[in-house]
Amino acid sequence: MKIVLPDSSELELPDGATGLDAATAIGPKLAEQAVLVRSNGRVQDLRLPLENGQPIQILTTRDADDPDALYVLRHSAAHLLAEAVRRLYPGTKVAIGPPIENGFYYDFEFPEPIGEDALERIEEEIQRELKEGRAWERRDVSAEEAKRLFAEQGEDYKVELVDTAEGQISLYTQGDFTDLCRGPHLQDSKPIKAIKLTGLAGAYWRGDEHNKQLTRIYGTAFYSQADLDAYLERLEEAKKRDHRRLGRELDLVHFDEHSPGSPLWHPKGMVIWNELEKIRKRENDKRGYLEVKTPLIYNEETFITSGHFPKYEDLMFKLEVDEHRWAMKAMNCPGHMLLFGSKLRSYRELPLRYAEPAPLHRNEITGTLHGLLRVRHVTQDDAHIFVSEDQIQDEISGVVDYARYLYELFGMTASAELATRPDNKLGTDEQWDMTEAALEEALKLNEIPYEIAEGEGAFYGPKIDLFMDDALGRKWQMGTIQLDSQMPARFGLKYVGPDNAEHDLYVIHRALYGSYERFIGILIEHYGGAFPLWLAPVQVRVIPVGEDHREAARALAEKLDEFRVEVDESDETVGKRIRNAEVEKIPYVLVWGDRETEAALAVRERGGEQSTKSLDELVAELSKAANL
Ligand SMILES: [Zn+2]
Ligand SMILES: [Zn+2]
Repeated sequence: MKIVLPDSSELELPDGATGLDAATAIGPKLAEQAVLVRSNGRVQDLRLPLENGQPIQILTTRDADDPDALYVLRHSAAHLLAEAVRRLYPGTKVAIGPPIENGFYYDFEFPEPIGEDALERIEEEIQRELKEGRAWERRDVSAEEAKRLFAEQGEDYKVELVDTAEGQISLYTQGDFTDLCRGPHLQDSKPIKAIKLTGLAGAYWRGDEHNKQLTRIYGTAFYSQADLDAYLERLEEAKKRDHRRLGRELDLVHFDEHSPGSPLWHPKGMVIWNELEKIRKRENDKRGYLEVKTPLIYNEETFITSGHFPKYEDLMFKLEVDEHRWAMKAMNCPGHMLLFGSKLRSYRELPLRYAEPAPLHRNEITGTLHGLLRVRHVTQDDAHIFVSEDQIQDEISGVVDYARYLYELFGMTASAELATRPDNKLGTDEQWDMTEAALEEALKLNEIPYEIAEGEGAFYGPKIDLFMDDALGRKWQMGTIQLDSQMPARFGLKYVGPDNAEHDLYVIHRALYGSYERFIGILIEHYGGAFPLWLAPVQVRVIPVGEDHREAARALAEKLDEFRVEVDESDETVGKRIRNAEVEKIPYVLVWGDRETEAALAVRERGGEQSTKSLDELVAELSKAANL
C-alpha cells in the first residue's frame, strides 16, 4: 500500500503498516522522535495501522509547540500521575484523566482526603518513574475482558466507563498501571522532559453534583524544562495581573456579598467605563446607529414570544408583583423587536440599527461567578440591526470592521470563529449557504483570521464569535455577531418593499466589547493596571515637596485641568508619595519644590526616568497621547 507524506510524495509500505512503521521507513531518527500521527486534522496513535492512500504527518519531539504534540505528551503524563498515585495511596480508585488546555488532570477517589502538601510527594514519584523510564503498550480487548480486569482491581469507575464506552475498547499499560484509554500515547516517557503538578480541586464524577465528589489533581508537562519555566513565569505574571486584585489595589471596583456577582464601581473604575462609553457613542454615531432605551422588566409572555423561555428561563430573575409574573431582562432583543414593530416599516428605513447599553441581569450559578469575567449584572454594548436579505453581507462586514477597529485601539489582535449550521437548523440549505457565505465573506474582506466551528451555529442562524489575544498571549472570547431570521418572525415583523408587498427580514444581534464588565476585567489584566494615558483614571499627579509648595502645586494642577489631574497633599515623604504613584501606575508624576518653575518641571513618566519639561511641552505631549 501507499501513504501520502506532507510534501505530497508517496511512500510504499507493506499492508497493515503502522505510523511507526512509516516513520522507520523514512529514517531511524524520525522513528525515535515520533510521538503522533496526524491525518486529515485528526490525531492517530503511532501503533495503529494506516490505510492505503492515507495522507499522514508524523509529529516528533521537535514539534514542541504543536497543540496535538503537547496533547499526547500531557495525556501520557496523566497516566504517569495515576500510576504514581495508585502506588503511593493503595486503595485509591482512578476515574478519568484527560489532557486539557495548558496541561492535564486526573480524578481520583482517595481512601483518605489528601492536601496540597501531597503534590510534592506525588511529583517526586512521577520523577522516579521518568528516571526509570516507561513505555506504553496498547492492547485491544473485548468489553468483558476489560470489565473483568478493572473489577479485579476494584476500579469501579473504569467498569462503569467500559459499560458506556462505544466502539473498540483499548487498554494502555505502562509500569504496573493499565488504563482504559483510546489513546493516542507516546511510545515511551523519554520525551517528557518537564512535569509539574499545579493544583488540587474537588470534582464530581461525570460532572454531576449528585454523584460522589472526587479529588482532581492538575498538572502540566512539556517537551523541555525551558518551556515549563516560561509557562510558570506566564502564570506568575497572570497572577500579578489578576483583575480582582488590581481592581481593589487601583481603587476601581469591588464585590460585596450583599449582591453577589454585581460589581460596585468606584469613581476611578467609572472613568474607564465612561471612556469606553465615549468610544461606543462616537463610533455608533459615525456608523449610523440609533440610541434607544427599552424596559428592564417585561411580563413573561414577552420572553415566551421571543423564544427565550423556556431555554433561558433559569438564567433570568423573575418577579411576582400584583399577581402578574414578570422577568428582568437578560437580553435586549425583545425590547428592540417591540420597538421595530411599533409601526409599519418601509424598505427605506433599512438597515435600521438600534443600540442600547442597558444593564442586564443573569442568574449565573454562584460557583461560576468570577470577578468581572462572569457577573450577574452585565452591561452589553448591544445592538440589533434590522436588514433585508440583500443587506446582510454589507452590514455584517460593517460590524466586523467596527470590531477590528475597537480591538486595535487596545493593541489586541482580533480573530474569529464562524459557527455554521447545526443539525437542528431551521430554514433551507440554500438560505444557510447564503448566510454562511455572507458572514465568511465579511471576515475575509476585513482580513480577520478565522476558523470554522462546524455545526456550532444557533438553530436560527450562523454566528461569528470574536476573540482577542492579550499582552500575555491569552485568547479571550469577546463579542458575537449573530444572524437571525427567527426572532423577527416570532414577533410578526415585516417590512414593505419597493413592490409594496410585505417581506421577511433578518436581525443581526451584536455586541463588540461583549460586556463592559468583562471587557474592563480583561483590559485590567491586559495592561497589568498600567493603562495608556487616554484610559488612565488619573493621568497626572502633582506632588508638592513641602507644605509651602502646596498652593503652587494646586495652581499647576489648575493649568492642567483638561486632563485628569490630582494633587497629593498627604503627609507622607516625597519618596513615599512617588512610590505610591508608581504602585498606582499613574502615567505622569510632577514633583514641585523650590527649583521647579513652569519653564522647568520635574516630570516622571511611568516606567521611565525623571526629565525636565516646560509646561507647554508637557501639555502638548499629554494632549497628543490623551486624544484618540
Ligand atoms: Zn489515556
Ligand atoms: Zn439580541
